[in-house]
Amino acid sequence: MAVRARDRRTVRSVALPTVAIIGRPNVGKSTLFNRIIGRRQAIVAERSGVTRDRQFADADWGGRTFLLADTGGVVEGPSGPMEREIRAQVEAAIENADAIVFVVDGRVGLHPADAHIAELLRKAELPVTLAVNKIDEPVGNADHIEFYELGLGDPVPVSALGGKGSGDLLDRLVETLPEKGSTDRAPADLNLAIIGKPNVGKSSLVNRLLGEERVIVHAEAGTTRDAIDTYLDVDGERVCLIDTAGLRRRSRVDDNVEFYSRLRAASAIQRADVCLLLVDAREGATNQDFRIGEEAWAAGCGLVFVANKWDLGEDRGPEILAAFERELKERAAFLRFVPIVTTSALTGLRVRKLLEVARQVQGERCKRIATAEVNEVLGKLTRRRQPPQGGRGDVRIFYGSQVATCPPIFVLWLNRPHELAEHYKRYLHNGFREAWGFEGSPLRIRFKKREATRS
Ligand code: GDP
Ligand code: GDP
Repeated sequence: MAVRARDRRTVRSVALPTVAIIGRPNVGKSTLFNRIIGRRQAIVAERSGVTRDRQFADADWGGRTFLLADTGGVVEGPSGPMEREIRAQVEAAIENADAIVFVVDGRVGLHPADAHIAELLRKAELPVTLAVNKIDEPVGNADHIEFYELGLGDPVPVSALGGKGSGDLLDRLVETLPEKGSTDRAPADLNLAIIGKPNVGKSSLVNRLLGEERVIVHAEAGTTRDAIDTYLDVDGERVCLIDTAGLRRRSRVDDNVEFYSRLRAASAIQRADVCLLLVDAREGATNQDFRIGEEAWAAGCGLVFVANKWDLGEDRGPEILAAFERELKERAAFLRFVPIVTTSALTGLRVRKLLEVARQVQGERCKRIATAEVNEVLGKLTRRRQPPQGGRGDVRIFYGSQVATCPPIFVLWLNRPHELAEHYKRYLHNGFREAWGFEGSPLRIRFKKREATRS
């Protein structure tokens, strides 16, 4: 089988800066979030299975890409004094972001809670862009002026609803992001992220890996997010464990643990080649696990499903594992192509193997199939079963080629791409999987139009 040496990827190791939107409830944070990600959300919604109520998304402005997070709001909660709540939530945002957009309500005017948030933000050494929202008619309006009092620099009047001022806001925001070059790091052979819900054993696994493998550079936790990655030497290959310090540091904000663990996962997924998706084996996989896995898959990451805490079920035989696998594969179609490893971060059971499987997945993900071989397999598949006829005549597939690796993308050229039935696309997909495996990696096939002369 013609497989070329896998391509080295370094691009993903560059961290996307994270921007958190914070502010009191009802000031318009979600509206602003949607305004900024704009078109993008429509694209996200197109990808089947991805949740609609996104709180994170990539955003682009002036050539800069960042991960935007809508924190849901600083609430004046019932569970404790207001100041404590606000402090906890602002600290969590500061800890997890590279820059902050602080939204206030220009119609309501300066609120005591705004002043309190501002005080915390001034102490943090993090860039803050102050958005005075709901200024729908900016001409002759001076409602934003009083927010100079917050001591956070120039307030930017915007209307998240109508869109006015949002360009200025974004100009200001991207200026505050860390320089592109400052997030460049040493290239790794494999960028590995450990993702999953709280308490499944992610931190324990990281510590176990650091204990067992040779650590090349163990960077100190610093102000830039890339300083919290760790490089391991695994049989001469450089494996970068993404966001290790973030995992080893427990969040202090109980209410927000889930939100920030999702934000952390989203940010890690952006940078990872392969994700280890951990679940607690006793609990099985939950909808949240599937959602995290699906996000990694949609982002083009390789995936290994890890059933951790395997030590806790002494009597778990192979039949239990088989049942576990069956259940997973029934519940989410993409998991049919994902390897499952049972581990114990506590005892070290199969932790070494996990790294091997992750490296295999990366090998599969970066595999390249020669064009001649693509067409040989394509020819066999179309001869075995012809494409169903479209409404206006024969649908003919002329040829195909792999146009990208890491993850693999194939393009097939045909006369009527829009008339190719979904079930036939699935048939080709399965045929490609059967021929080449790509285990643990997403596989994409695109269908493009070409006139019949090329057959
Ligand atoms: P969040 O709780 O901070 O996320 O606030 P939302 O985004 O849910 O917005 C709260 C309310 O303010 C909603 O009714 C929005 O339609 C409204 N709103 C948000 N942005 C604007 C704006 O720029 N102008 C006006 N007039 N209303 C807005
Ligand atoms: P995280 O929130 O995903 O980082 O989870 P932690 O690593 O903090 O683990 C949560 C709890 O599960 C801790 O009490 C760990 O000691 C325990 N734990 C983690 N991995 C294992 C395991 O493989 N077996 C057992 N028995 N306990 C584990």
